[in-house]
Amino acid sequence: MRDKIWLSSPHMGGNELKYVNEAFDANWVAPLGPNVDGFEKDLESFLNTDIKVAVLSAGTAALHLALIECGTQHGDEVICQSMTFSASANPIAYCGATPIFIDSEKDTWNMCPVALEEAIEDRVSKGKKPKAIIVVHLYGMPAKMDEITAIAEKYEIPVIEDAAEALGSTYKGKSCGTFGRFGILSFNGNKIITTSGGGALVCHSQEDKDKAVFLSTQARDNAPHYQHSHIGYNYRMSNIVAGIGRGQMEVLTDRVEARRKMHDFYVEIFKEIDGVEVFSEPASDYFSNHWLSAIVINSEITGKTREDLRLTFIEDNIESRPLWKPMHLQPVFADAPYYGKNIAEKLFDDGLCLPSGSNLSDDDRIRIKNVINKFFSK
Ligand SMILES: *Cc1c(COP(=O)(O)O)cnc(C)c1O
Repeated sequence: MRDKIWLSSPHMGGNELKYVNEAFDANWVAPLGPNVDGFEKDLESFLNTDIKVAVLSAGTAALHLALIECGTQHGDEVICQSMTFSASANPIAYCGATPIFIDSEKDTWNMCPVALEEAIEDRVSKGKKPKAIIVVHLYGMPAKMDEITAIAEKYEIPVIEDAAEALGSTYKGKSCGTFGRFGILSFNGNKIITTSGGGALVCHSQEDKDKAVFLSTQARDNAPHYQHSHIGYNYRMSNIVAGIGRGQMEVLTDRVEARRKMHDFYVEIFKEIDGVEVFSEPASDYFSNHWLSAIVINSEITGKTREDLRLTFIEDNIESRPLWKPMHLQPVFADAPYYGKNIAEKLFDDGLCLPSGSNLSDDDRIRIKNVINKFFSK
């Protein structure tokens, strides 16, 4: 069997161990310390706006804290993009709230502004104003933030941007994750940079960040003994893990460039193949990190399905994956309301994510290209 080509695998830069070793040498293994501060500063200057970042144990934890800071309580409703990874929606359930799922639109595959407004009007008419809007920048593609922000402001509902897949992406020159009341990032193993596991909450004030740090470290009041007046969480990132993050920040720009090159590689291949569309920026306002490259296969034109291609890749030990299955189609969220026209459903039926790692070799690319060309010429 040939070596496996992964969809997206960790890619260390070289200096991660230096920072981890520094933490060991200073016995700064316990939570907080110079790497946590340093990683947060690195992220703040990378995102390039007047923001504050709290690094946490996971992107999912960051979403949970964002919802809490937006005041989400038991029985509330929270709007969420349907086409996404389950971690976008699960924290709504942690709060005892109900997700209201919104369809995608065709340009960015992200939240459809038309369906969003329809949903808000309908929920408000039923007597419940949603507590927050969770919008996702899927596969690194910025969502239609102008339209979504305008609707959110009109109805005075805070936006939480799930930028777990979009570190390094921008919309109109501004970093994804910095548009909403809160943004979240993920450094899970398959993301554009990784700390093995971790996440961050992107805030717009020191106060919001301080609150996140307080809640993520068991909500300890200021007292010599352990005193608590809030429910706390154990969500803070450790100083060891943050050391990996500092090393990864040194190579983030290279990683974005390499992922974007993978996208160009697929554009080049599929230029020659009718009936396959490579997921690309709809206009120059959008700059995607192309965390994952993806295609949509028109079966009527090609006579093939995305599942045919996925299985063909497996024969050559190459990993590919269908697009995220929309949340409103997931058994666990079967009862949640949904607004839209089934665009996400159609994308799920026809779409496939292709190997996109920043560490793929020229040989890997030749193997991938050969499989694709053979598959579509049959
Ligand atoms: C990875 C991911 C998350 C969760 O991040 P973790 O750090 O794994 O908890 C949330 N939303 C989306 C869209 C993701 O891809």
